[in-house]
Amino acid sequence: MTVSKTTLADNVVRGPGREPAHESGQSGRESGRPSRAEAEAAVRTLIRWAGDDPDREGLAGTPDRVVRSYEEFFAGYEVDPVELLQRTFEEVDGYDEMVVLRDIRMESYCEHHIVPIIGRAHVAYLPRRRVVGISKLARVVEVYAKRLQIQEKLTAQIANTIDEVLQPQGVAVVIEAAHQCMTTRGVHKPGVTMVTSRMLGAFRTDASTRREFLSMIGNPSNRGGE
Ligand SMILES: [Zn+2]
Repeated sequence: MTVSKTTLADNVVRGPGREPAHESGQSGRESGRPSRAEAEAAVRTLIRWAGDDPDREGLAGTPDRVVRSYEEFFAGYEVDPVELLQRTFEEVDGYDEMVVLRDIRMESYCEHHIVPIIGRAHVAYLPRRRVVGISKLARVVEVYAKRLQIQEKLTAQIANTIDEVLQPQGVAVVIEAAHQCMTTRGVHKPGVTMVTSRMLGAFRTDASTRREFLSMIGNPSNRGGE
């Protein structure tokens, strides 16, 4: 389990005069990244594939809007989650109890169908000497969510990064989410929530720690009684 400190941004070829090493015809911000015009052309292709006319009035601005939406949906590739957790606080007066951030609204995108995965994440850790600003925990969730994902990997990445950087006594991450690839296509099963969890350190080895966490988030296996 290693977390690279090399960010995507570090690998980015920026600035004028830098020829991309390979692949031609690009003017994107990053080596290998297609240009905005290429991305918009791809959207036009998908509109035609759907059976519509990308040149009709209502769709004329759609490729531009879709590409800009993609910048929001996938903004997580631009941020280094390790960097986010670097600033910690050590003056905690010996606080060594669980820190729990629950019901973090989360929007991610299924990497198999590129449709939303919408739900909430619960993140906990058991500090060892230092703590991190709570908004940073929510940001780590967001950075990994705003990428093409499967929920299992998303859950593991959040937990592993917090574990690696803060080196706490334990980390727990639970994600409950609905997958639009299941609700609006394929098996069409609305109302189904997928629950994934990753328990590290004390949350894995100590049943009472794990139970305390699960009761604090309102055990996802019997939702509704909160
Ligand atoms: Zn899917």
